[in-house]
Amino acid sequence: MALRNIRIMGDKILEKVCRPVNTVTPRLRELAKDMLETIYHTYGVGLAAPQVGILKRIVVIDVDREHPHILINPEILDTCGEQTGDEGCLSLPGKLGRVTRPNYVKVRAFDLDMNQFELEGVGLLARAIFHECDHLDGILYTSRVEGKLRENVALKDEEKK
Ligand code: ZN
Repeated sequence: MALRNIRIMGDKILEKVCRPVNTVTPRLRELAKDMLETIYHTYGVGLAAPQVGILKRIVVIDVDREHPHILINPEILDTCGEQTGDEGCLSLPGKLGRVTRPNYVKVRAFDLDMNQFELEGVGLLARAIFHECDHLDGILYTSRVEGKLRENVALKDEEKK
């Protein structure tokens, strides 16, 4: 396993639409594991393949460090409710902004054995699923922010330690 370099906003790869995954190769399996490893070494709760320079529809999410989710070709089936809160992105280090998302999501995806499954998320998990799925269509949360991006002060203090 290895940490991957994260592409920063301004990199054109973050604005591209990703291609579906047809087969899970050993390389793709390694990519998924590396992506999880990468969020565990950062303050991230999720990461999408284009953020590490791979234009494929795969995202990893783990909002509590106990339930890693690998979603291949995720497709949103249902949404409900509304939540407004701060959102950040590993491609915009040290920033956050207010974004309104549905409070509930049901998503269909494939796992590393290409078995289809459904995942439901509320609150932060739902937010992470929307945020990461947006990346697969080249959408950054900055296009959804209400008001201005702010400095993530807590994170900066943490980095000084
Ligand atoms: Zn992001």
